Amino acid sequence: MMAESEFERALQRLDEAARHVEISPDTMERLRLPRELLQARLTIRMDDGSLKSFEAWRCRYDDSCGPTKGGIRFHHHSTADEVEALAFWMTVKCAVAGLPYGGGKGAVRVDPHELSVTELERLSRAYIRAFARFIGPDRDIPAPDVATNATIMGWMADEYNQIVGQVVPGVITGKPLALGGSLGRDDATARGGFNLLEHLCGRLDLDNGPRRAVIQGFGNAGAHMARLLVDSGWTIVAASDSGGAVFNPQGLDVAALEKIKAAGMSVRNGATGATRQIDPDEMLGVDCELLVPAAFQDLIHEGNAERIRAKVVLELANGPVTPEADALLHKAGVTVIPDILANSGGVTVSYFEWVQNRQGERWTLERVHRELESRMNAQGDIVWKVAETRKVPLRTAAYIVGLGRLTSAIEATTAVISPVAEAAGRRAAV
Ligand code: NAD
Repeated sequence: MMAESEFERALQRLDEAARHVEISPDTMERLRLPRELLQARLTIRMDDGSLKSFEAWRCRYDDSCGPTKGGIRFHHHSTADEVEALAFWMTVKCAVAGLPYGGGKGAVRVDPHELSVTELERLSRAYIRAFARFIGPDRDIPAPDVATNATIMGWMADEYNQIVGQVVPGVITGKPLALGGSLGRDDATARGGFNLLEHLCGRLDLDNGPRRAVIQGFGNAGAHMARLLVDSGWTIVAASDSGGAVFNPQGLDVAALEKIKAAGMSVRNGATGATRQIDPDEMLGVDCELLVPAAFQDLIHEGNAERIRAKVVLELANGPVTPEADALLHKAGVTVIPDILANSGGVTVSYFEWVQNRQGERWTLERVHRELESRMNAQGDIVWKVAETRKVPLRTAAYIVGLGRLTSAIEATTAVISPVAEAAGRRAAV
């Protein structure tokens, strides 16, 4: 049965992994609830002179491995429950990626398309005023997520600097280059997923035969992925966004779709000639080798998972496949490369940005790409090997890797010997 809340569904993954690996009760206890969740009301002056309030949250889920790290999303359906689930995933993701970070997340319940640019700036600055004491370069480091971008991160970084009275570039990543952003951050999430796909291509049985891909969510991550795939010989046969979907078995014109999106329109406006509109759910049943969910959580569920014809699902979005759909895909022999591995390129290049900011350095784009690829490949190999040796899906394997690293950090910070360790005859060192 589908769990009631987003957060409960996220914890189902923890329970699933716990069936395959011995996770100490200390770790389970620490990971069942977020460490801190702060809610605020952001009240801003609208352009028409009225005042309007928006609910906002920031969550620091667990900081055993380092300062918490996670994006801020602006979405009209955001809730505290969603923020907790996303912060939990960030905790495990940073551990899988081997980064010195814990997990966090933030959100504002707003439809950003209804705000003018000046209202958006006031809202972004209000967010930082509300959470300035909660965040910090050694405490909690925000970044972009759904409907937020480098411009918004720039306003937020500036507001933080004004509040603390000094320039602290490492407090936020995904900033504009002029404010200490890193080269290569804009397409990092997609590039990391693409690196992984190329690296695992043979093992995924994708190196021979047609290479057709479907992109669910032609936004930041999805459009960059489409571009990287096309540039390496893939054909994008279908793509969707919140306004609809388009399909062309001969291949979509990705450059034309990018222009349409840049003009603020939906991909469905790209339906001309052989490219036709298609129902977004029907799109999932299109013949292809690769499906890239890059939109939102829970869009692939038990009601549509059985339509999927792809051999491989590469999760660029966070939590796009429900646990029920996951089981159906596994049964059908579809390989799912899980979010906590597949989309970790974004936080990895955010980490590079934070390192550059703290060292006063600027890396070349070539160095960013090289280091990203080498980290994605290394983590991909580790997770693949665990999946093979334990005969579990890649998602469970990724959780086993992440939870193993989290357990080491959690056990290193507590003098209380866990019942599991006691049963194994270990004694506290203090
Ligand atoms: P974005 O806002 O740029 O793009 C999201 C896209 O999804 C938009 O084009 C939107 O129209 C589309 N969409 C919304 N609802 C849809 C639906 N029902 N069907 C199809 N498309 C729909 O956001 P983004 O930054 O690209 O993030 C997308 C996903 O990737 C999110 O789950 C996010 O958490 C995850 N992610 C992003 C980053 C990053 O660096 N941006 C990093 C890691 C994970």
